[in-house]
Amino acid sequence: MNKKVAFYTLGCKLNYSETSTIGRLFNKAGFDTVNFTDTPDVFVINTCSVTDNADKKCKKIVKEALKISPNAYVTIVGCYAQLKPQEIADIPGVDMVLGAAEKFNIVEHISDLTKKPKALVYNQPVSEANEFVASYSFGDNRTRTFLKVQDGCDYSCTFCTIPLARGSSRSDTIESVIAQANEIAQSGVKEIVLTGVNIGDYGIRDGERQDKFIDLVKALDEVEGIDRIRISSIEPNLLTDEIIAFVAQSKRFVPHFHIPLQSGSNKILSLMRRRYKRELYVDRVTQIKRLMPDCCIGVDVIVGFPGETREDFIDTYNFLNELNISYLHVFTYSERENTLAAEMTGTVPGSTRAERSKMLHILSDKKRRSFYESQLGKTADVLFERDITDGYMHGFSRNYVKVKTKYDPILVNELKAVTLTAISPDGDVEITEAEETLVH
Ligand code: SF4
Repeated sequence: MNKKVAFYTLGCKLNYSETSTIGRLFNKAGFDTVNFTDTPDVFVINTCSVTDNADKKCKKIVKEALKISPNAYVTIVGCYAQLKPQEIADIPGVDMVLGAAEKFNIVEHISDLTKKPKALVYNQPVSEANEFVASYSFGDNRTRTFLKVQDGCDYSCTFCTIPLARGSSRSDTIESVIAQANEIAQSGVKEIVLTGVNIGDYGIRDGERQDKFIDLVKALDEVEGIDRIRISSIEPNLLTDEIIAFVAQSKRFVPHFHIPLQSGSNKILSLMRRRYKRELYVDRVTQIKRLMPDCCIGVDVIVGFPGETREDFIDTYNFLNELNISYLHVFTYSERENTLAAEMTGTVPGSTRAERSKMLHILSDKKRRSFYESQLGKTADVLFERDITDGYMHGFSRNYVKVKTKYDPILVNELKAVTLTAISPDGDVEITEAEETLVH
């Protein structure tokens, strides 16, 4: 009988796509992938350095794993494993820790599955993590795939540990991304979400710029069999007029951008060492809305960064309130070791951070609602997902309006033209069948 391996992923879409790739490596080596609770012989836990209490979470998952399979071999990979290998190795029950340069050699490292009295650690300086390993994952619902096109980051935002955990910016080739997109199309998945750490910086290989993100976008737009491609998140200074104009007339790229802002105060942006001022952000939003009035725009913002006074926060709040955007992802600042921000003065008390976060969450709900209201009465192509909640299913329009309708198995992974009719009490959009047939 084949050995069994189970995975647990913390963190971002990139981690999910990499866990899938590690899973395929195990399958090639003759392992069966099973659920966490199906008494696996090997557990692989893919960690994140951005998640709060990464060490506590990791400990808890290891404990749970060993309750399920007391003799299972436990391996920890990912950003936290790169940053804190020793801390992780000291967690009771961990057998192996693999850093960024080693995680895709996992199968070679697992030679025998006997539990180790002391965890083996394979961790090199992050500067060794220069290789790009292609990855894509099928999400739980298999209606959309996260396709990794870029890894690492050459920026040095003062709050961020990602460059320390994932190394410098590097990318896949256009040919390889297209080949993977074709494979995904063959599998019947209709939507690709492009992922990376800093995907606007796409195109660096062997330390040199060889392509631009727009070249990749243009090439992907020609891939037959994929209905939609979503750019997950792109830095505002890298979102060029050319990209916006191309997406506006694209066959496959959808009118949805997620653009990290982080703060609406130029003072804080400069302390964060972000590479733009808020004026540039306004300009990007204006340009998008000029060409795509129905485009959905999501914004990342951090509250409670050191030095953020009440006035700075109000500045951010008012800035966002005025901006024609659709929703916010709010992050509460928390100190990370080995970052410049952790050494800065002007620490914001926890209760103030929480209050600011709450205010922006309320603003986000208001923005989302008003974006949804602006879409009512319109016809939209919706891609329905597999989930069922209380007899209802969900789907997303091209411009990321979340709709709900009574569960109908025939709709799963189907694109359907619907009319957006009303906002339901839980904030999703209700629909009726549109008279016109589907365009795609
Ligand atoms: S752009 Fe800044 S926040 Fe984003 S990964 Fe790079 S250093 Fe971190």
